[in-house]
Parts: sequence; C-alpha cells; structure tokens
Amino acid sequence: MSGKVELVVPDLGDFADVEVIEILVAPGDTVAVEDSLITLETDKATMDVPASHAGTVVSVDVATGGRVNAGDVVVTIEASDEDFGSSTIVIEPEEQEAILAKVAVSDDTVSEPLPDTTHFAELVVIGAGPGGYTAAFRAADLGMNVILVERWPVLGGVCLNVGCIPSKALLHAAKVIDEAEAMAEHGVKFGKPEIDPVALCGWKDKVVGRMTDGLAQLAKQRKVQVIHGIANFASANHLELDNGETIGFRQCIIAAGSEPAMLRGLPDDRRIVDSTGALELDPVPDRLLVVGGGIIGLEMACVYSALGSAVTVVELTNALMPGTDPDLVRPFRKIVEKRYEKILLGTKVSGVQATSTGLDVLLEGKDGNTAETFDKVLISVGRRANGDKLNAEKAGVAVGKQGIISVDKHMQTNVPHIFAIGDLAGGPMLAHKATHEAKVAAEVAAGEKSAFDARSIPSVAYTDPEIAWVGLTETEAKQDGVAYEKAAFPWAASGRALSLGRDEGFTKLLFDKESGRVLGGGIVGPNAGDLIAEVGLAVEMGADATDISLTIHPHPTLSETIAFAAEAFDGTLTDLYIPNKKK
Ligand SMILES: Cc1cc2nc3c(=O)[nH]c(=O)nc-3n(C[C@H](O)[C@H](O)[C@H](O)COP(=O)(O)OP(=O)(O)OC[C@H]3O[C@@H](n4cnc5c(N)ncnc54)[C@H](O)[C@@H]3O)c2cc1C
Repeated sequence: MSGKVELVVPDLGDFADVEVIEILVAPGDTVAVEDSLITLETDKATMDVPASHAGTVVSVDVATGGRVNAGDVVVTIEASDEDFGSSTIVIEPEEQEAILAKVAVSDDTVSEPLPDTTHFAELVVIGAGPGGYTAAFRAADLGMNVILVERWPVLGGVCLNVGCIPSKALLHAAKVIDEAEAMAEHGVKFGKPEIDPVALCGWKDKVVGRMTDGLAQLAKQRKVQVIHGIANFASANHLELDNGETIGFRQCIIAAGSEPAMLRGLPDDRRIVDSTGALELDPVPDRLLVVGGGIIGLEMACVYSALGSAVTVVELTNALMPGTDPDLVRPFRKIVEKRYEKILLGTKVSGVQATSTGLDVLLEGKDGNTAETFDKVLISVGRRANGDKLNAEKAGVAVGKQGIISVDKHMQTNVPHIFAIGDLAGGPMLAHKATHEAKVAAEVAAGEKSAFDARSIPSVAYTDPEIAWVGLTETEAKQDGVAYEKAAFPWAASGRALSLGRDEGFTKLLFDKESGRVLGGGIVGPNAGDLIAEVGLAVEMGADATDISLTIHPHPTLSETIAFAAEAFDGTLTDLYIPNKKK
C-alpha cells in the first residue's frame, strides 16, 4: 500500500515564523525515515526537520528564505511504507524533546544571567591547536570578542609543537639524506653524512618556534585574548581554570584535541617513547622498534632509518597503514622491506622488560613467540580524544566513547551554544579537518549560515614514497558496492618521475560509472601529498575526466600523471598504449 503523505513542521516551542535556510531534498529524491528534509534557523539555533516516513518526494512545499510555523507542510511524498496511515507527521516524544531541548537550551543559556566570573567573552575557545586558533581568529575577524584558553605555554597545539610541523621538518632532513645517497647510482657521490641530532633538533625547534611565535602575533593583531591554564566546564556558561580563575561565555568552542594512546603494562622507562618523545631524537638508537604500522609510526620509522637506526616495525593487523588501498601501500612496502630490518605483520607486543642493556620485547606472531632486544621502542598505536577530560557533563555536553564529542554539520554539540571541532569531534584526526571545522563553528557562532559539507578530506602519509588519497577509496567502493571505474597512470611512463629517479609510483582516479564524475583518487610517489589537492578539487567540484584532461598541465611535471589518468579513462591517452580503451 502507498499514498501521498504531507510531512509537516513539528512543534517549535515558542518560535514562530522560522526561516528556512536550506532545502535538502528535491522532487524525485528517495528519502528514508530520519533523513533531513530542510534546515530551519531561529536567531538562536538551527535544526533539521527529519522525514517521519520513507518514500519519494513529490513536491517541496517551502522555499529557501521562506518562513514556516509548526504544522506547515514541508514536503509531500509518495510513501513507500505499508503503514503510512495518517497524513500528519508523527514525531516520537523523545525526538520532539530533543528538538525542543535544542532550541530551548540555546535560548535559555544565552539569556540566563551569567555567573560572576574573572573573565568574560562572547566566545571562549578551549585549546589553541589548529582547530582552536583558527576558530578564535575567524570569530574575531567576524567581530566577536574572543578568549582563547590554552594549557601549554605556546599556541599551535599538537600540530605545530609535536605533530605535523616538527615531523615534516625531520622528514625533510631524512629525504635529503636518502636522495643524496641515491644519487651515487647516477654518478654523483657524497660522503657519508655526519649527523648531529642536537643541531638537527635545534633546527626543527626553530621552525616550530617561528610558527608558534607567528600565531601569538596573529592573536594580538586580532585582539584575541589568550589565557594560559587548564580549563574545565563548571556550567553551561562558565569555565574554571586550574589557577582558580573563571571565564564566563555566551558561546564556547571545544578544541582540546587528542593525546597519544599508550599500551598498558609497559615499564616506566625513558627508552619507551610516544610520537612526542620520538621527535626529540634523544638518542638516535642502533635498533628501534616501532609498535604500530600506521601513518605516524611509519613517518617516524622513515626519519630514524635515514638517521642510521636499524628499524623494525610491528603491526597487529595484516597490513601496513591499515584501511589504505593495498595497491597504494605496495610500492612503499617494497622499498621499506629492503631498508628496514624487519616488518612484522599480524604480530603483537605482549611484553616489554627494561634491562640496563636494552628493552627486551616479547613479540607474539602467527608463527609463535620471539624475543628481541631494542635500544628504543616507539609506541604509535593511535590517538585518543580529550573530550572526556573537561568535565563536559557539567555543561550538559554528551561525550561518547573514546572521548569523542558528537556534533551536527554546524559543529554544534547537543548543547547548541557549545561547539566541538578537530580531533575530539570524531572523524579523521587531521589538522586540515580541524581548521575546516573551526571556520564553520566560528561562522555559526557569529550568526553566519555555515555548515560542514565537504565531500572529502585528503589523507597523506609523508613517508618515502609519499602516499596520498582523497574521496572514495577502492576499499570503500568494494565494501559499499559502489559502481566505479578506475583509471591509472604508472609513473614509469612519466618523464618527470624518471628524471627524479623515482619510477615506483602511480596515480589512480576512480570515476562514477554512470556520470563519469571523479569520486576519489590515490597517488603514491614523491610529492603525492601536494599532488592530491587537484584530485580533491575535482571531487569537490564534481569534475569529470574530461574536465581534468582538457586542463593543460605543465610539462614535465608529476601533476601530468593526474591528467594522464583522466585521459586513460577518456580513451585519449597517447603517452601509453591501452588497446581496449580507444574512443
Ligand atoms: C607526530 C604527528 C604527526 C602528525 N602529522 C600530521 C600531518 O602531517 N597532517 C595532519 O593533518 N595531521 C597530522 N597530525 C595530526 C594533527 O596534529 C592533529 O589532527 C591536529 O593537531 C588536531 O588539531 P586540534 O586543534 O583538534 O587539536 P590539538 O592540536 O591536539 O590541540 C589541542 C590543544 O588543546 C589544548 N588543551 C587540551 N585540553 C585543554 C584544557 N583542558 N584546557 C586548555 N587547553 C587544553 C592542548 O594543550 C592543545 O594545545 C599529526 C599528529 C602527530 C602526533
């Protein structure tokens, strides 16, 4: 049985004439129960109106910019469920409560008299990592009065101080060492490098210092007040700092990031380090064990190997960089298998004993147990979000498993005047995701219409070779049954790659089988991290192969490999012979 059902605006509490800011469906679309139909915005909050019935949209009965009240028809659908019965939307009591609570909390908390606090700001941002400082700066640029609270003495968070920037500085040194050595094959020989880890770290720290000093300057220029201290929520309107001071706020953005996860039961020994300790190069050991074959562990393995350590990598699953398309990892693995002492997959560390001569590590693998001694052990088994370390419950903010705080597309938590962004807001723990979310949160806080609607977030392993991907991966496409076509271009046919002495890489693009639009792509080879941005743009803009192939790429560059992969899909590629792809 089926029939027409009118889906209406639910009870909006005290609100009337609420603006429709976005229409999320169009006639012909199929909607499932709970799918969002439109977005409404009061002056205090935004909310989506969900579908109470599944079916096909016949007509959209409101327009963007129009105003609606409870009971107004939003969308008419041809219901597909058997049990559609009435033509009135039925909102479950809990759902209604949630919608009303969202609007009510926003209203109450903003108008409620604020507690008597040491400091007060329209917007407080907790944490000055890439998420936090970007949010604070964007909000200040939009005219808000902002306080940025940071527990560390410098701004920049993990990314600038103990993450992206210092690791890339060391990886650059590693690349220079490796490239100099590789030139011997091509007739240019250098002597063995003399490595001074203290001076190298000094250079790395100088790079970091320039960045963090720059941030302090940018905060000053924008009149963002920076307060140093550990912040905890005392209510939905104020924070307490560890120095006894308090900060009142109208709105708050939580950007307190994440911390390295540690294995349990390890001895307390300075030779066992996390990624922060590993960046100190103190010392560069003869034998290094990297526990965890993810991106961070493999980047540090690259650094230590170039500096002269014999590296062993142990990974619990059966793949390096778990989750990454295996074909992208293969060229990297082939190279590091020759360089590293061992790569042990499907293996776990079941015990570590510290002795005066080293760290005795018990390794439990498919073929039984072995014990090996290392001079240093890097634990890089993931990171844990800091959402559950802020007394968020005192503000009514729900914190999920692993310290993650759930948010909607406006980066609002279940308490709409409190936002969460970055590593603690779920999704990939990446700086560029944090900064993108930060701008959305700041804009929404400032009353702008903004939402996180990026189609894709690029990932990059700055290993040697680099591995980068964006959008749909082949692994996901296969899992989800997405109809896709793949086109790839091997770097062995790229003049630029050959002139760099690097022919191991390739570029692949995935296309929607029907529309021909780019769904995603992956690149392995030097500078893959820079190159992947073009594929990201293609995904974001809904470009197809012809859009890329008819864009003239400079020659000879590695960027041409993206155009060549698109030409391979179009059947217009002349730099390789693909007989069955001629069009
Ligand atoms: C070794 C390493 C390499 C990495 N490389 C890359 C890379 O190449 N590219 C990439 O995109 N990402 C990389 N990342 C991940 C990246 O660093 C994070 O995704 C990013 O820093 C997250 O930003 P954030 O603002 O959410 O939090 P964070 O950078 O973690 O910042 C959170 C800030 O909040 C502060 N804080 C926490 N609690 C409180 C409190 N209660 N009161 C006051 N302040 C508080 C912290 O001191 C910190 O400064 C790397 C990470 C590591 C560890």
